[in-house]
Amino acid sequence: LSFTVSGITETEKDTIAVCYQCMNDKHPNTVDLIPGAYRDENGKPWVMPFIHKLEKEMLESPNWNHEYVIFLGLDPYMTLVPPLILGDNCPALKTGRAFGIQTVSGTGALRIGAELLARHSKFNTFYLSDPTWDTHDIIFSYGGFKNSRTYRYWDPVKRGLNFEGLLEDLDNAPENAVIVLQICAHNPTGCDLTRDQWIQIADVMQKRKLFPFFDAAYQGLGSGDLEEDAWPVRYFVQRGFEMFIAQTFSKNMGLYSDRIGCLTLVLNDGRQQEIPALKLMMTVIVRAMYLCPTRIGSELVIKVLQNPQHCEEWQKCLRKMAEQLKEVRQALKDRLVKLGTPGSWEHITEQKGMFSFTALTRKQVAYLAEKYHLYMLLNGRVNMFALNNKNLNRFAEAVHDAVL
Ligand code: PMP
Repeated sequence: LSFTVSGITETEKDTIAVCYQCMNDKHPNTVDLIPGAYRDENGKPWVMPFIHKLEKEMLESPNWNHEYVIFLGLDPYMTLVPPLILGDNCPALKTGRAFGIQTVSGTGALRIGAELLARHSKFNTFYLSDPTWDTHDIIFSYGGFKNSRTYRYWDPVKRGLNFEGLLEDLDNAPENAVIVLQICAHNPTGCDLTRDQWIQIADVMQKRKLFPFFDAAYQGLGSGDLEEDAWPVRYFVQRGFEMFIAQTFSKNMGLYSDRIGCLTLVLNDGRQQEIPALKLMMTVIVRAMYLCPTRIGSELVIKVLQNPQHCEEWQKCLRKMAEQLKEVRQALKDRLVKLGTPGSWEHITEQKGMFSFTALTRKQVAYLAEKYHLYMLLNGRVNMFALNNKNLNRFAEAVHDAVL
């Protein structure tokens, strides 16, 4: 038996290495700023109170079991989840030309969508923002896509969005290219697009016949409002695009390890009769990959979405999280400015969502890990939720030292 190590990028190796390096650093001052997960003011994981209650009730119920969830998911889940992103009055849902399937979280949704396109359509090129969540590339490549490309997104000089570059790259993309678009709280840059910019993107994509694949990993964590964050997707539906949308409850409901997501496909009017065949193709891909999705997460999400009071509690938690992010961003910027750390730190408060793209260099990031036990991705991405009153000063002072 012999194996050939191939197709594994340096970025992928680096990401895996730094995650393990942090996990194995037992120093009392170690701070893990890598994973995109919520931490409360004390740096601890948090279960939303209504989730905790529902989970307890569910597990204590005499009807609770661990039966399989057959292939594409639980029916109430597949009915309740797509309207969260498409809106209750979405014409595509009303006319039966959009449908969603339950997936193994956002990653599973992206992967099933990618594989369906790669196997059963003529699409063979995908575009990711530069930079993007580092897993996107392997999801689409392992899903069967042949050509991986990028569109410009981050301007390192401006420390902000390169919108002209983005539009130009989309304008030069080949027809039928799949464009992966993050709806809000962009990972890793935190640079979100304005409504006017989304309109311009829609214009170019319609002109160039490009296919949008929306990644809605942080719905509710961009603005603090689920509806507001869904706007780009709803706008594209209104403009008549066909599209895939990947949703997840990892971040916005804190159900990280429950692996609960949704893949929604919106088709043009008149294509309703193709849906059974599409579902069959998806079923075969699912069965070949993991047979069927998970139960506990979908039962929880169903219980939340069926109950207006739980929905309100959920919104309240999202607003609290968004507020916490705003405060910690401001506190970090103020601290760096007060220390006189060289460079401009405006971008820290301009960015949205849980990540800050600090603009620290790879060397500075390595220095922070080695000397201060502060771990972030090598591209300088920091989970802002990992910063709190107890470690913020130390973090700012360490950054100051690294930059000097
Ligand atoms: N998309 C983006 C942009 C992400 O950042 C993540 C998680 N880091 C995901 C999708 C998928 O997350 P999950 O599989 O936990 O839903």
